[in-house]
Amino acid sequence: MINRVRGTQDLLDLDLQDFILEQVKKHIQTYNFKHIQTPILEHTKLFIHSLGEQTDVVSKEMYVFPAENKEDSICLRPEATASVIRAYFENRVEEKPYKVFSFGSMFRKERPQKGRWREFTQLNFEIVNSDSVSQDVEFIKMLDSFFSEKLKLENYVLKLNFLGCLDDRKKHKEALNEYLEKFADKICPTCQKRKETNILRIFDCKSPECQKIYKDAPKLTDFLCSGCNSEWEELQETLQIISVNFILEPKLVRGLDYYNKVVFEFASSDLGAQDAFCGGGRYSLGKEVGSKENFPSIGAAIGLGRLLLLAENNLDNLNVTGKPALYLILPMSKKQHKLALLMADELRDNDYCTDVLLEGASIKSMMRKANKMGAKKVLILGDDEQENNTVTIKDMITGKSEVVKQAEAIKSL
Ligand SMILES: [Zn+2]
Ligand SMILES: [Zn+2]
Repeated sequence: MINRVRGTQDLLDLDLQDFILEQVKKHIQTYNFKHIQTPILEHTKLFIHSLGEQTDVVSKEMYVFPAENKEDSICLRPEATASVIRAYFENRVEEKPYKVFSFGSMFRKERPQKGRWREFTQLNFEIVNSDSVSQDVEFIKMLDSFFSEKLKLENYVLKLNFLGCLDDRKKHKEALNEYLEKFADKICPTCQKRKETNILRIFDCKSPECQKIYKDAPKLTDFLCSGCNSEWEELQETLQIISVNFILEPKLVRGLDYYNKVVFEFASSDLGAQDAFCGGGRYSLGKEVGSKENFPSIGAAIGLGRLLLLAENNLDNLNVTGKPALYLILPMSKKQHKLALLMADELRDNDYCTDVLLEGASIKSMMRKANKMGAKKVLILGDDEQENNTVTIKDMITGKSEVVKQAEAIKSL
């Protein structure tokens, strides 16, 4: 037997996934977003430049196809934001802001574990090239109303933090470094390493001992310059005005280098310890893809797998339209196959979901199969029917059957 590749999955029932994607597409249209698609293959350097060589994603988790010339190496995309910025610049898109949605497979060579896949589907939203705080609010509101109104989720929170500008982060870093000196031998080895390479990442540590130390660590929001501070206050005020609930989470920093100013996460305790199902924030990319200037932007990614789990728990409140009613044609012998195919054609022309049993069996076993397939009605074509240009239609729910002229068949469905 040949098995699927470790860390990938076969999705054999996409009803709920299709429902969610349909809802997203409807929702983003009301916010005037465009649906776009970028390639799964990208140049490796796109992510080295945008995410940073030090990040776990780039240093350990990418699927890279090496090339003779290192510059030419390509990879399977680990995330979508860098690709959107590349596409925006490369195609000389003139829209400003550029509001887009995309979804598709992302790839990360992680150790497969519950809820973590090497190939996974992400929904991505970006507003490219706008630095307005009100645009941040509009963006967060769009996500929040998608969860609450379209997916009818109730049990979730929006966590918010503000990373300020480079100068603010520098000042905070110094203070944080000084604070950590006192605990240098108490924090875990990973945190000791992160303290030197990417100090903000220490807050992601899962160790309770580390977290106890970080509880009183200096907060980034206490180091904001006056410009950033007023943006941060304006953001919170505007969110309150348009009724978006949030909690402040000073330790929320997000893993990637390119974030600045607002960062956020939607989380639900229904998901257990790994409770985040959507994360994003403001970032500035552009020079990394060859532009002379950076484009101030805001973006978010949703893991479709996590969202499916939440939607599954909430099925009672969702109007997931399942399969349409099935109409099944039963030719009693090979002689009636041609007639059956013609009749199926006519039903489908009238938008009926139609299937024909062509494998040859007794009427008894055909009816059993019709039951198993959940057919609403069966249309029986035997010798008598063929001779008299009729069809016997049996209602599988009431059990009643009637013989009608073939020409009248559609009318009596
Ligand atoms: Zn600042
Ligand atoms: Zn730690």
